Amino acid sequence: MSPIYLDNNATTALDPRVFAEMEPLFSGFPYNASSTHSFGQRAKGLLIQSTQIVADCMAVSPQEIIFTSGATESLNMVIQGIARARVKGHILTCNLEHVSVLQPLQFLEKQGFEVSYLFPREGEGALSLEDVEKNTQPDTFLIVLMGANNETGILTDIEAIAAFAEERKIGFVVDGVALTGKEECRIPRGVSAFCMSGHKIHGPLGVGCALVRKHVKLQPFILGGPQQLGRRGGTENLPGIVGFAKAIALMQEELTDSVNKMRALRDLFEERLTSLLPDSFIIGQKNRRVCNTSMVVFPHIEGEVLLMRLDLQKVAASHGSACSSGALEPSRVLLGMGFSRQIANSALRFSLSKWTTGQEIDRAVITIQQEVETLASLMS
Ligand code: PMP
Repeated sequence: MSPIYLDNNATTALDPRVFAEMEPLFSGFPYNASSTHSFGQRAKGLLIQSTQIVADCMAVSPQEIIFTSGATESLNMVIQGIARARVKGHILTCNLEHVSVLQPLQFLEKQGFEVSYLFPREGEGALSLEDVEKNTQPDTFLIVLMGANNETGILTDIEAIAAFAEERKIGFVVDGVALTGKEECRIPRGVSAFCMSGHKIHGPLGVGCALVRKHVKLQPFILGGPQQLGRRGGTENLPGIVGFAKAIALMQEELTDSVNKMRALRDLFEERLTSLLPDSFIIGQKNRRVCNTSMVVFPHIEGEVLLMRLDLQKVAASHGSACSSGALEPSRVLLGMGFSRQIANSALRFSLSKWTTGQEIDRAVITIQQEVETLASLMS
């Protein structure tokens, strides 16, 4: 039986159509876009073309695009780059952000910046405009928030917060990783920078992008060359960039159908699972969520054990995040939302892709039910 992959928020499979675009660039021809000879010009042509594709898909101008090695670099680059363009001030963020946001902010704190890490209100799972308004100080120069939470799928109202940020002339960085490809959205005007990752949208690993508005003052983060208008040094990863552009183009082309399909299957998955296992419940079911993510709590079940048993049955999900020791920790996000350690320990995340099928959902539900019932009977 083929394995069922329900961990698409961790990474997605490369789309063969993306690989087909990238493959010729791995052999036979040198591709340094900075060289002046015809080889270099051909590379430059591909770079310009890829930049234009991303710009068109995201409705920004090509000058606003910076390719990076992924969202971790994009977020480091924009957060540190915007802060370093000034001396001090206050930054506002949420405690449930990804570590690639929290760690650069902790670093900036050590450099003398003030950072407020806010908890969302009970039952919310994301900061609201009101939370942001209330906690803005006269010296607040930056707000950093995720468009959607990668663990719960809960959406932040970036439209409303962007309008506020624009009116108050505060920078607004959005971690768009878990949102991109999961929701029809245009990047609001008040967003100063929007970060994305290739491997979360069926593109290649090790490539990402930051859309940075023209007016944003950004100190370069990676120094070492005039590439990308001097904003990110280093020879461009051309196969990666070409693959990223193709992945974004396919994503946009198929977005409406993919979102509808994922939402229908995710809702079916949740309905069936919670009716077969009446004790189980979904985190954030009443909140606005992206279409592909389901964080399910199986009370009294050790999530880590369930995860391993599911893996043996060829169903891949995820539980919290792997810490550096290799031991699995309960979800920091659930703890931050106010859930007990016991609840956080018994939660698993299932995340679908546009290729997940109804048959896979049927099989996954039955397998989860069997494994949860077996574990419950072993414990009683
Ligand atoms: N932000 C979020 C919400 C993520 O889920 C991830 C990846 N887990 C990142 C940022 C970092 O992305 P990358 O893997 O491209 O560095």
